[in-house]
Amino acid sequence: MNDDQPRRGCQWPMWPHSSRPNHQYCGERKRPESSYCEKHYALSIRNPDEEPSRPFVPRRLAA
Ligand SMILES: [Zn+2]
Repeated sequence: MNDDQPRRGCQWPMWPHSSRPNHQYCGERKRPESSYCEKHYALSIRNPDEEPSRPFVPRRLAA
């Protein structure tokens, strides 16, 4: 087996800690270069606050 860090999975918090006394993390297998699993890595680099759900409308280029 090549499971060198079985207890250190994805560090993505499953809920805000104000809502739960116990800290719990996702725990999925992490990407090697990240503290998160594939799913949460994607979320971590795509901040919804910076990426509104409305489609991007390009500005008209000045003629
Ligand atoms: Zn995760």
